[in-house]
Amino acid sequence: VDKISPEKRSRNMSQVKGRNTEPEKLVRSILHKMGYRFRLCVKKLPGNPDIVLPRYKAVIFVHGCFWHGHGGCKRATIPVTNTKFWFAKITGNKERDKCNIVALEDLGYRCLTIWQCEMKDVNALKRRLSAFLRKEGELACGKTCKARKC
Ligand SMILES: [Zn+2]
Repeated sequence: VDKISPEKRSRNMSQVKGRNTEPEKLVRSILHKMGYRFRLCVKKLPGNPDIVLPRYKAVIFVHGCFWHGHGGCKRATIPVTNTKFWFAKITGNKERDKCNIVALEDLGYRCLTIWQCEMKDVNALKRRLSAFLRKEGELACGKTCKARKC
């Protein structure tokens, strides 16, 4: 059941389509504090990824749960009015997201999707980001493994 008020819903929607959403800003500021350097909204890459880390050949998408149809998430409930329209719209977005990730991976990029609902636990988010961006052969402690035994 759609419990979000119409005002809140329209605000959510206006946020999601634009750039510089709050979740996006949060991820950026976390990355920045962790010392990662990145570029924003790179138009020449499939799906104009929100955050691109050229050094790591990695991209990060920050997705609003509603617009991108986060599976099993309560924020991704299809509204009870205009259900067909929303269903088609969200399904289309999900398909496009999938295609973009496939195209990016074909170009040799690694992709990470962070959902709006995953923003609450900043420490968990940091751990995910550093695990994702860790270079091959680099250990959790930041040292490089030369023995290649671990
Ligand atoms: Zn979600």
